[in-house]
Amino acid sequence: MLQATGISKSYNKLEILKGVDIHVSTGEIVTITGPSGAGKSTLLHIIGTLDKADKGEVLINKISINKLSSKRLSIFRNQYIGFIFQFHHLLPEFTALENVCIPAFIAGKNEKQAGVRALELLKMLGLEHRAQHKPSELSGGEQQRVAIARALINQPAVVMADEPSGNLDTANAQSLHELFFELREKTGQTFIIVTHNEDLAQMADRKILMRDGKIVTE
Ligand code: ADP
Ligand code: ADP
Repeated sequence: MLQATGISKSYNKLEILKGVDIHVSTGEIVTITGPSGAGKSTLLHIIGTLDKADKGEVLINKISINKLSSKRLSIFRNQYIGFIFQFHHLLPEFTALENVCIPAFIAGKNEKQAGVRALELLKMLGLEHRAQHKPSELSGGEQQRVAIARALINQPAVVMADEPSGNLDTANAQSLHELFFELREKTGQTFIIVTHNEDLAQMADRKILMRDGKIVTE
């Protein structure tokens, strides 16, 4: 479902990614691990269409994202890719439910359609009773789960996560990891996860190790 070939990226003449190839199949759960500064986040941003490579091609569902206009790209991204970051970037002035609905509104769903689905997701994540709360009224783990519901609302074909459990305690981290596997069983979604968490890397179908801007083992 995802094929990236020959991805190179430099910042200030420093080569951060040195011709990376990565292929991920539908329904796979893949982790990307490696030391800090190896280029993991940069690679995730590029295959997630948030950033452009200097060289190389990214195909998602056989669509060459290099060729999409920026308007088409943002529509594509909103529908195909769900992002989970360590810092959740919830909008503070909106409730948990409203935050979860935002990508669905962007995709053209009305308030009722989006609301029903958002509530289902919050329920699945054990947060139904928090739906009307603002982010500041929620714990860190709850905020993270709201962000996960938001990432999932458009049923993206692929979920990309950058240190999703980095700010969670062991119990919350474990239940988040289990959720990824449950979702994959239910929906066949694909997960690409940058993580330092050894438990998660061990559970994954495939573990990609990066070092100095290259993939060293799979
Ligand atoms: P990792 O996720 O493996 O820790 P990153 O992809 O975040 O690695 O970063 C790799 C290197 O690229 C780091 O040295 C980082 O400072 C640099 N870098 C990442 N993004 C930028 C940017 N937008 N501008 C300049 N340097 C960047
Ligand atoms: P992570 O903690 O997941 O590795 P970072 O904190 O490295 O992520 O990066 C967060 C954002 O900051 C990314 O969009 C990355 O491109 C950007 N960034 C990282 N390092 C630099 C840098 N040295 N200069 C400018 N932007 C950077």
